[in-house]
Amino acid sequence: MDIRKGLKKKKRIVIKIGSSSLVHKETGRLDLTKLEILVREVSDLHNQGKDIVLVSSGAISVGKAAMGIEKLSSLKQKQACAAIGQVKLMMIYQKLFSEYGQTAAQILMTKETMTEAESRYNALNTFEELFELGAIPIVNENDTVATYDIEFGDNDRLSAVVVALIRADLLILMSDIDGLYTDDPHQNPKAEFIAEVNSLDDHFKNMAKDSTGSRFGTGGMATKLLAAEIATQAGADMIIANADDFHIIHRLIGGRNYGTLFKANPKEEFYLVDYLEKM
Ligand code: GLU
Repeated sequence: MDIRKGLKKKKRIVIKIGSSSLVHKETGRLDLTKLEILVREVSDLHNQGKDIVLVSSGAISVGKAAMGIEKLSSLKQKQACAAIGQVKLMMIYQKLFSEYGQTAAQILMTKETMTEAESRYNALNTFEELFELGAIPIVNENDTVATYDIEFGDNDRLSAVVVALIRADLLILMSDIDGLYTDDPHQNPKAEFIAEVNSLDDHFKNMAKDSTGSRFGTGGMATKLLAAEIATQAGADMIIANADDFHIIHRLIGGRNYGTLFKANPKEEFYLVDYLEKM
């Protein structure tokens, strides 16, 4: 069957939204119109009987904007901004989700949550119970306690790790770019768009530049390809799609050709903890 047409049947979907897709560029404050569309799209997928996880960035951006901070001056200031912004973000999510009859739940994690067997097991149980209860988990890195050695650092990787943990069958990375190009399209007008990646070999990995062009996010194309490696080996398809218009979510699930699709390439010997240790 055409892989795009098969996306309708996905049962467990993780959708990752970066900060730059949630805030107004000029002010760093939340783009409420976009958020409303996102929440409606996610609610509708949930109403179709799918388990949905939202991995949402934005805590630090929202906290900075709320406190009128232009540029972060220390780790503790960043962590304080995350503490302020995370709760503001969740208040808005909970309000919008409740308008569509949904219940949002917050899960904050660090790399340690995943490398320690006991907390990994607890996290998985919590996800499963939330699905059972019909809630929509919203995940972010626990930025208030994460320091360099225990952080994922970006939510691209975090979302792929969540996919592997809960055995999701699709990861959608909503980004500020249409998908994967042969080169950086902002700098090279001849860069060509790649609609499908069957197997993620070095040829594709070399196309990723370690830059994002975004003032707000942390993940560039390189982290997206690392996420693709984890998600596809764990047995999920992955799509990178443009977050300009969140209506793209139902169009993608409806089988339309947007974004770059990375085909699942399940590896029997895939072991999540090995990957985490390499990060
Ligand atoms: N966890 C960070 C935040 O919520 C963002 C990380 C990312 O954008 O990849 O602000």
